Amino acid sequence: MVGTADLHSHTTASDGSLAPAALVALAAGRGVGTLAVTDHDTLAGLPAAAEAAGGLGVRLVFGVELSVRIPHGSMHLVGYFDRMAPPAILGWLEELRAGRVTRAEQIVGRLGDLGVGVEMDAVLARADGPVGRPHIADAMVAAGHVGDRQAAFDRYLGDGRPAWVPTQGLGPTESIALVAEAGGVSSLAHPASLRLDGPRLGSAVQRLAARGLGGIEVYRPEHHAERRRAYRRLAERFGLVATGGSDFHHLDGPARPGDTGDPPLPADAIDRLLATRG
Ligand code: AMP
Ligand code: ZN
Ligand code: FE
Ligand code: FE
Repeated sequence: MVGTADLHSHTTASDGSLAPAALVALAAGRGVGTLAVTDHDTLAGLPAAAEAAGGLGVRLVFGVELSVRIPHGSMHLVGYFDRMAPPAILGWLEELRAGRVTRAEQIVGRLGDLGVGVEMDAVLARADGPVGRPHIADAMVAAGHVGDRQAAFDRYLGDGRPAWVPTQGLGPTESIALVAEAGGVSSLAHPASLRLDGPRLGSAVQRLAARGLGGIEVYRPEHHAERRRAYRRLAERFGLVATGGSDFHHLDGPARPGDTGDPPLPADAIDRLLATRG
């Protein structure tokens, strides 16, 4: 099966709502032939995803979405590997997950100060794996502080909002290097989250490319034509592969597996990205 490609998706191993096998089945049913599972700071969903993919003729790409510490805005890198569980990064991922707990405690503290407190236990109970802001948002909904997850982000949790605490983790240079040492390659996820204007984004991407970044997400369902053109130009200027994906989290969300915008992500993007490894 060839089908379409989707190089960014989440499962219950992080903050998605479908178990890995269910995600792969949904993707396969939608004609996705190549799927990367990219849970936040964990590889725990990959074995079950690989098994399901094998049975359905889907090519599973072993991925992870890494939290990266930057002084302003937020940065995620999606790392891709051509085999399972590179042991070199397991200790690092464990630290990233511990940093997520600390950050969640800080966010919960701020919510308390803001009069919309939730119990940390209620947040952790919602997370099978690494805890994240979506779990906090759901706890806020359950406590009656907001009507839905999106309102929790818009009012409290989104980047720059009153209860926001920046992501902890290693910086970009170390993160890119660790992925490369483990035999993988990284792509810059949702470049807009860096919250930089055109020239500054250009300099930032140039620096990342010089440090070994392999790709940049161009194909995402929320990217309209102008944004795509801007990111594609950056890819061309700095020799990066244009990647992307649906960033599917849950069925109430805006995108389904395989939604990468129009035109869709080229099916050979992952092979071109993996081929950039030195
Ligand atoms: P975290 O890993 O804790 O920083 O949370 C990141 C996740 O929160 C993303 O993968 C999205 O699912 C969600 N998220 C981040 N910002 C927003 C936003 N402004 N609105 C809705 N969801 C968001
Ligand atoms: Zn997520
Ligand atoms: Fe992300
Ligand atoms: Fe994501």
